[in-house]
Amino acid sequence: MTAIILRPGRDKSARQRHPWIFSGAISRAHSAAGAGEIVSVLDHNKDFVGYGYFNPFSQIRVRLLEWDEDKPIDDAWWFSKLRESIARRNLLDDDPNTDSYRLVFGESDGIPGLIVDKYADFLVVQILTAGIENIKGLLTSQLTEILHLRGIYERSDLDVRALEGLQPSAGVIAGETPPDKMRILENGLRFQVDIKKGQKTGFYLDQRNNRQVNATFAKDRDILDCFSYTGGFSVYALSKGARSATFVDSSRQSLSIARENIPLNGLEARSTEFIEGDVFKVLREFRDSGRHFDMLILDPPKFAPSKSDLKKALAAYKDINMLAMSILNPEGILTTFSCSGAVDLQTLQTVLFWACGDVGRDVQILRTLSQGLDHPRLVTFPESEYLKGFICRVI
Ligand code: SAH
Repeated sequence: MTAIILRPGRDKSARQRHPWIFSGAISRAHSAAGAGEIVSVLDHNKDFVGYGYFNPFSQIRVRLLEWDEDKPIDDAWWFSKLRESIARRNLLDDDPNTDSYRLVFGESDGIPGLIVDKYADFLVVQILTAGIENIKGLLTSQLTEILHLRGIYERSDLDVRALEGLQPSAGVIAGETPPDKMRILENGLRFQVDIKKGQKTGFYLDQRNNRQVNATFAKDRDILDCFSYTGGFSVYALSKGARSATFVDSSRQSLSIARENIPLNGLEARSTEFIEGDVFKVLREFRDSGRHFDMLILDPPKFAPSKSDLKKALAAYKDINMLAMSILNPEGILTTFSCSGAVDLQTLQTVLFWACGDVGRDVQILRTLSQGLDHPRLVTFPESEYLKGFICRVI
């Protein structure tokens, strides 16, 4: 096995079990291995640090998998990692009201570069690195052996794969082809999911718990669901007695699925409106025309994909939060999120501080939100904490 030698003093974070080793930490004389090849990482004194997989094309040169020298990375190692990760979802697995959740969340579950989501009786797999791409066949057969589901669909059609020297890839990799629209169950509610063409792997599973908590504030309120996608937040809110829901999204396909999700849950008698448009513009129009709501959800896409986008992103977060506060009725509820890794919880709170100052309203934080329990945050890998949010009362 190729040994990768670290520069003097550059083993600390790896020994603290952060799984990423950047190119700058590696001694120049020892940096050659193939894309995806399993390597052993040694410190400057040639003492063992860990096993990982290498990629000469990525700035993240090694992703560490194992810190115990007696546990080499063989087929049995991958099998037990997958099995352990899946077994960890027992809380959700035991819940008869939910059949769709994340089974493997990359680094957090000790398998960097791999995402596995379960949608009813299909799996969707996302492969982000060359190390995982190399063993795609092995992982596919192991997942089939562990779970006995109807089929596995790959959704590795992501731009980040280019950073690893990989092309996008999507399609059936085992078993049956999933239907164009799958029906899933989440906390007793039904949703249509387009595994093949939907965003991410088809549904924002990470918001499951937040949709439920938000709905407890929804009774008798008129709701504006901004960045609604297929309507997750509003379907929950309507099921808990919200008076009306207005969905805003720039994606026509997402809104058409949102529309189908209403009767699917017996909510067709409720007042709903679907607006295809840019949230920034729609909020301005509502403010200028004096239209008001009692609850507003802001679940935007990642405005800051990296730290260099932070300044622009914060201006955008501030803008939508300020507009939201200005169109909420007194004592209205604002549920606001950021899924940008570069924006931490304190920064999101600072955004609210700027926004409420501009509109001259008092804002109380009622709940602090994060990603669901099937997207665990690994303490030694702070990058795994990406979703944060608040439920606020705007007085
Ligand atoms: N709240 C959703 C997930 C939102 S994901 C849920 O619970 O499922 C973000 C959504 O924002 C996507 O559906 C995307 O189409 C939409 N979007 C991105 N930029 C937008 C913009 N400027 N205006 C309106 N929608 C936008």
